[in-house]
Amino acid sequence: MPELPEVEALAAFLRENAVGKVVTRVDLAGIQSLKTFDPPLSSLAGLEVTGASRTGKFLDLDVSGIHLVVHLARAGWLHWRAELPTAPPKPGKGPLAVRVHLDDGAGFDLTEQGTRKGLAVYVVRSPSSEVPGIARLGPDALAVDAEAFAALMKGRKGQLKGALTDQTLVSGIGNAYSDEILHVAKLSPFKGADKLTDDEVLRLYDAVRTTLTDALERQVGQQAAKLKGEKRANLRVHARTGLPCPVCGDTVREVSFADTSLQYCPTCQTGGKPLADRRMSKLLR
Ligand SMILES: [Zn+2]
Repeated sequence: MPELPEVEALAAFLRENAVGKVVTRVDLAGIQSLKTFDPPLSSLAGLEVTGASRTGKFLDLDVSGIHLVVHLARAGWLHWRAELPTAPPKPGKGPLAVRVHLDDGAGFDLTEQGTRKGLAVYVVRSPSSEVPGIARLGPDALAVDAEAFAALMKGRKGQLKGALTDQTLVSGIGNAYSDEILHVAKLSPFKGADKLTDDEVLRLYDAVRTTLTDALERQVGQQAAKLKGEKRANLRVHARTGLPCPVCGDTVREVSFADTSLQYCPTCQTGGKPLADRRMSKLLR
């Protein structure tokens, strides 16, 4: 799932490679991904790409005042192609959702793997008021200051893992970087956000900043195709169940939920105690 660093790197890539070019055509292959109808997707044709930016985990391509806003969700991605096929794609087949053609023959595909379709594309004039997910976003994880961050966490009931990934509280952090941030901060994902001491909330804030800025430094300037591998290669605990923690050598453990999971290091984060895996304990009961 692309999060703040990957989406920012994609925006930077598009600023380098798409801005200044004219959109010649947009193909819609995955009807369910398009969430708006006015202005129509076809209104982008003939207009110049004037900017690319990120808001939370949303990617925003500014096409002369009409915005193509993309939420890549869990399995969506942007594939840049120096030469796009000109024949229109067959709708509803394969991972392709939207294809954007530029006037030099290059362009990009928005794709989504798997059957759970979450990729969302919006064509709007005002992203902040017309895209509901953007209208609801909390402050950006890299823009919020320490004081505001502490106030948000202390006013939040529930576990840290949920607080960090709640886009309406702080935006930009998803499942992977929240595991990484909690590992850097040496905090349990199940600790209550409103139970943090002043010292802990500052540690968490510092971990948010260092984790995301380190990832940004590695990713911005990379080719779009290299971003996923770059992200994966630098993870400490996320998606590393059973492997050694790079800090202490303990075995990284996992807690599974209905459709997701989290990873953590017991020695670094939970005083050496494994967390109860609720799904597993339910099955064993
Ligand atoms: Zn560890």
